[in-house]
Amino acid sequence: MTRILIIGQGLAGTALAWRLHERGVPFLIVDRGEAVTCSKVAAGLITPVTGMRLKVSWRFETFYPEALRFYRRIGKRLATRFFFPRGYVRLLKDDTERQKWPKRLRESDVGPFVHPHTPRLDPAVISLPHEGFQQRHAAWLDTVTYLEASRHFFGDAFQTAVIQPGDVQDDADGITWSGQRFSHVVWAQGWQAAQHPLFHWIPFQNALGTILTAKADLQNERRILNRGCWLIPRADGTLRAGSTYEWQFTGPHTASAAALTALETKLRNLLAVPVELLDAQSAVRPIIKGKQALLGTHPSHPRVAFFNGLGSKGSLRAPWLAKHLVEHLLDGKPVDTEFDLQGNT
Ligand SMILES: Cc1cc2nc3c(=O)[nH]c(=O)nc-3n(C[C@H](O)[C@H](O)[C@H](O)COP(=O)(O)OP(=O)(O)OC[C@H]3O[C@@H](n4cnc5c(N)ncnc54)[C@H](O)[C@@H]3O)c2cc1C
Repeated sequence: MTRILIIGQGLAGTALAWRLHERGVPFLIVDRGEAVTCSKVAAGLITPVTGMRLKVSWRFETFYPEALRFYRRIGKRLATRFFFPRGYVRLLKDDTERQKWPKRLRESDVGPFVHPHTPRLDPAVISLPHEGFQQRHAAWLDTVTYLEASRHFFGDAFQTAVIQPGDVQDDADGITWSGQRFSHVVWAQGWQAAQHPLFHWIPFQNALGTILTAKADLQNERRILNRGCWLIPRADGTLRAGSTYEWQFTGPHTASAAALTALETKLRNLLAVPVELLDAQSAVRPIIKGKQALLGTHPSHPRVAFFNGLGSKGSLRAPWLAKHLVEHLLDGKPVDTEFDLQGNT
C-alpha cells in the first residue's frame, strides 16, 4: 500500500501533495492551521539575479521552467490565477553598485536575464536616480491564494491538526497516525522542525522576515521595483514591500522596531509619492546552515522523510524539489547529494 502522510501545508507540503496527486498516489496532508505562517506571509518573488553581487539564483535554469509549468498547470486545474510573470527593475543603490554592476551585467551567466533596454520610470512616482536594469524571467506567486485554493481542492485529503513527533509511529511495514496507516510520513513543517527530536542534528539558522503592506498611487506601474528594498504593486491598488532578515528574534511574528523603521525608510526613499502604511507581517524562514534545501528519508527510519530548508526561495524551488522527493520515495531514484538528508547527518 502506498499512502503518504504529509505534515505541513506550506509551499513545501503543498507542492508535494500536488506531485502525489499527479502521480495518482493517495495522501493525507495535515496542517495546524496557523493564521500567519512563513508561506502565507511570503511575497512569492521569483528572481533570477539576486543580491548586491547580482548572483544568479542557485539552479535557476532548472527550477524556473519547472515552477512555471507547475503553477500554470495547477492554476488552470483550479481555475484560479495566482502566478504572475512580471518585469523586475533593479535600481542602483550606491556608488559601489555603480562601479561593479556594468562589468557584472556583461558576464555570460547574468546576460540571459538582463533585458536589452534600459528601464524607463516615471520620476513623479519613483524617486531618482533611475540607473539600473530590468530582469527577465521574474514572477511572483500569490501564495495565500495558491495555498487556499489547493487546500480546498484536496478536500478530504486535507485535515487540520497539530501532529507531535510522538504521535507518529513507524515500524517495518509502515506509519501509523491517529489509527490510520501510511507507507511514509513526510515532515514538511518549516522552521518548526528545529524542535523535532528525529532531526536534532540539522543546523537550522532560521531568520525572521517582515513585509509591509502599504498604499501609494503608483499610476500605471505594474513592475516589481527594487532599490534598497523591493516593492510589488498589486491589482487592488496596494503594494507589498520587503523584506527584513533578523537572525535574533523574540517571537515568530515579532519584528524589532529597528527593522521595521529601516524597511519603512527604504520604501519611502524608493517612492516619490506619499505612502500610507497599512500593515506589517512577520514570519520565520526555514534556513539550514550551508544548505539551499534538505530532503530525503531519515538514515535509520526509512519510512520517515523530510522536506525543508527552502529559505527565502520556496516559490521557485518547491515544485522541482517536490518532484525529486516523490521520485525518490516512489521510484527509488537517488536524492541529489547536494541536498540529500542522508549525506548531511
Ligand atoms: C517575510 C518573508 C518574505 C519571503 N519572501 C519570499 C519570496 O519573495 N519568495 C520566495 O520564494 N520565498 C519567500 N519567503 C520564503 C518562503 O516563505 C519559504 O521558503 C516557504 O514558505 C517555506 O515553506 P515551508 O512549507 O517549508 O514552511 P512553512 O510555510 O512554515 O509551512 C510549514 C507548515 O507546517 C505547519 N506545521 C508545522 N508544524 C506542524 C505540526 N506539528 N503539525 C501540523 N502542522 C504543522 C505550519 O503551521 C505551516 O503551515 C519569504 C519568507 C518570509 C518570512
